[in-house]
Amino acid sequence: MRNYHRWAALAGAAFLTVANVTVSMADVVGGGESLETAVTVAGPEDSGQTAPAGDASQQPGAPLGEQGATAQENQNQTQDPGSAPQPSEGTANRVIRVGDGQSSGAAADSGSTAAPGGSGSSSVDYSQGPGFFPGGGQTAPSQTALPGQSEDIQIFDVTNPVVLTTAKYSYDQMVQDINTLQQKYSSRMHVNPIGTSLDGRAIYDCIIGNQAAPRHILIQGGIHGREYLNPMLLMQQMEMILVNYDTGSFHGNPLSSMFDQVAIHFVPMTNPDGVTISQFGIDGIRSQQLKDAISTCYVMDSAAGRGGDLGTYLSRWKANAQGVDLNLNFDALWAEVYSVGYPSYSGFKGTAPGSEPETQAMMNLYSSQYPWKAVIHYHSMGDVIYWDIPGNKVQPESAQLANLMSVVTGGYRMLPSEGGGGYKDWIQLGNNPVPSVTLETGRVSCPIPISEYALIWAQNRLTWAYAMEWVMGR
Ligand SMILES: [Zn+2]
Repeated sequence: MRNYHRWAALAGAAFLTVANVTVSMADVVGGGESLETAVTVAGPEDSGQTAPAGDASQQPGAPLGEQGATAQENQNQTQDPGSAPQPSEGTANRVIRVGDGQSSGAAADSGSTAAPGGSGSSSVDYSQGPGFFPGGGQTAPSQTALPGQSEDIQIFDVTNPVVLTTAKYSYDQMVQDINTLQQKYSSRMHVNPIGTSLDGRAIYDCIIGNQAAPRHILIQGGIHGREYLNPMLLMQQMEMILVNYDTGSFHGNPLSSMFDQVAIHFVPMTNPDGVTISQFGIDGIRSQQLKDAISTCYVMDSAAGRGGDLGTYLSRWKANAQGVDLNLNFDALWAEVYSVGYPSYSGFKGTAPGSEPETQAMMNLYSSQYPWKAVIHYHSMGDVIYWDIPGNKVQPESAQLANLMSVVTGGYRMLPSEGGGGYKDWIQLGNNPVPSVTLETGRVSCPIPISEYALIWAQNRLTWAYAMEWVMGR
């Protein structure tokens, strides 16, 4: 019975698989997007390396993607953010017909989605996962059938939440919310500062559940400044867990007993300075030395044709406050990581691996005594999942976790990653490797408008619960 319900819930997600991939591809192809995950439209065999065919706005040959964060990517991103394709209203609830690859609404032109490595060509075929819909001709359930709405999942969204949905969820707001949650749920949540950013902002590890549990999961986001919807997502996941902790259940298991066995660490904002720059510009930074460093980045980027309008430039800031892209700064194939040659809003890997305090904080957390079993990294954008790296010591397990997350999110497309320098890469290549996946939320360029958030929330509200169940079964 329990398994039946589980498959049924996942089937709801699978229904959306086709639709989401279609929408994602249509947006990317139709809008000429490249962005952080330009590889969205590249096949898995060459992802991270090759520009998608047929996109005249890109030059072939330059490494792209999350790990690459390159001049090529940045060049494309100097375009006005207003040029990003806007989602049509009601996308999440549109009627989807499965089986013919078509959906109504914005994705009706899905013929254009026949990009290399299109929706059917993931290296791991998650469409064969549990609960895959049996055939065509059916009308998929609406968004309310996503995992989490199933009758054997008693985990409900929060009414009158502490963590409000807002267009620019700031570091200061996050700190205030963490304090409020800690006061309200002091026995369920423990907060540890794990480091300090260059501009003096504490980086927090929020642990929910039994700190002595034999299994720990790490979920982190906001390592890239402009991806600041994800810190809000993680904070809302945390609050939902805390509110449902004593009464909720997942596939028949009380949450309270699950959290006896598994603790989840949330590091919602790994790069608070970068988030602050993206949201508030140079004025958000306190140190004059760092303000000057940001200005220098702008001068250098402008000279390289990567500048443009200052306000737009700063809103697209990914790096930390001295222009190091933290997700290129980890000691994972670092010497081979493609990098721009100077501190920049994006794509500079730093002068040495692990050179930045934010990088060190995350390395130290992972190197601590916790018995890690899985790590989820939240980035944006693309509705894709990166799960691999050359030399990955936990490849089958990472693929399995990614496969699960692909189904749970309603069809985020699995792609291997190349390059290196990322936190995920460092974990998969290191001395204590555990299954590790990067979920890239959102369909449009960063900073992602708040109008996209409802869909992102629906796709990701229960990723933590599925991850818990998965590590408990291993
Ligand atoms: Zn990112």
